[in-house]
Amino acid sequence: QAKKSGNSCAIYTSDMGLEGVDTLELENDLHQAVEHHQLSLHYQPKVNLRTGQIAGCEALLRWQHPQRGMIPPAKFIPIAEQTGLIVPIGRWVIEEACRQSLSWLAAGLPPIRIAVNLSARQFRLGDLAETVKEILDQFGVSSDLLELELTESMIMDDPERARKTLHELKHLGLHLSLDDFGTGYSSLNYLRRFPVDSLKIDQSFIHDVTTDPSGASVVASIVDIAHNLNLNAIAEGVETRDQLEFLVANDCDAVQGYLFSKPLPVPEFTALLAEEKCW
Ligand code: C2E
Ligand code: CA
Ligand code: CA
Ligand code: CA
Repeated sequence: QAKKSGNSCAIYTSDMGLEGVDTLELENDLHQAVEHHQLSLHYQPKVNLRTGQIAGCEALLRWQHPQRGMIPPAKFIPIAEQTGLIVPIGRWVIEEACRQSLSWLAAGLPPIRIAVNLSARQFRLGDLAETVKEILDQFGVSSDLLELELTESMIMDDPERARKTLHELKHLGLHLSLDDFGTGYSSLNYLRRFPVDSLKIDQSFIHDVTTDPSGASVVASIVDIAHNLNLNAIAEGVETRDQLEFLVANDCDAVQGYLFSKPLPVPEFTALLAEEKCW
C-alpha cells in the first residue's frame, strides 16, 4: 500500500507515464476524501413535461480536492471503481441522500424523490438490497423517496442475478431507472421482465435529435418502447428549446438538462424547491 505523500516524485517510477502518477495520487487522496468531508452531492432537477414542475432530482457526486479543486466524477469514479473504494463511497452517497431528504422534509419542503447512481461494483456485491434497507431504516426515510439509476451493462452482465436484485429493491419500494439507455447492449426481452420504472434516454441521442433524422427516430422509438412497457421515458442532457420541443411533441415524460438547470449545490437547489419552481 502506497503511503500518502504530498510529493508526486515519491511515487514516480520511470516506466510510469504522467497519467499513472496522477491516478496513483488521486487514489491515495480518495482514501481520505470521505473522512475529510471532501465529497458532496449536487442535485439536478428532473422536470415533468406535462406540469413544468420538479418531478424529482438526481444526486451527482462532487469531489472538492484540497489542492486540485473540483475533480469531475468522470476522473475519479473509474479509480474508485477499480480500487473498490466505490463501495464505501457509494454507501456514503446513499446515506447522504437520505440525510438530505430528511433535512428538506424538516425544512417543510415538499417531499422530493432523490435518484442516486449505482456503480457496477456496488450492484455486483450481492447484498445491495440489504444494505439499502439498512440505510433507509437507520435514517427513517421512506423508500418511495429513493430512486436508483443503473445501466444496461450492469444488468446484462448477469441478467438472472440482476433480476433477483432488482426485485428485492423493488420489493422495498424503491424506484428504479435504466441510465444511459440505448448506449448499452440490452435485450427487450429482459427489459420486459425487469421491474424498472423509467428509461433515461442517453444524452448522445438527445444531442442529435434536431440535426440527425436517425437520432430523432431513435429517441421517438425509445419513448414508444418505454410507454409500451408501462415505463416512464426521461431525456437527459436537454440543452436547447428545439430539443425540448421535439421531446414534448414525442410524448416524453420528463427531462433533465442545462436548459432547465445544471446540477446545483444544496443551497441553490433548496431555493428552487422552496419557490416551487415551475418552468
Ligand atoms: P450520468 O449518471 O449519466 O449523469 C449525467 C451527467 O450529465 C452528469 O455529469 C451531469 O452533470 C451531466 N449533465 C446534466 N445535464 C446536462 C446537459 O444538459 N448537458 C451536458 N452536456 N451534460 C449534462 P457529471 O455530474 O459529471 O457525472 C458524470 C457521470 O459520473 C454520471 O453520468 C455518472 O455515471 C457518474 N456519477 C456521478 N455521480 C455518481 C455517484 O454518486 N455514483 C456513481 N457510481 N457514479 C456517479
Ligand atoms: Ca445517472
Ligand atoms: Ca445518464
Ligand atoms: Ca453516463
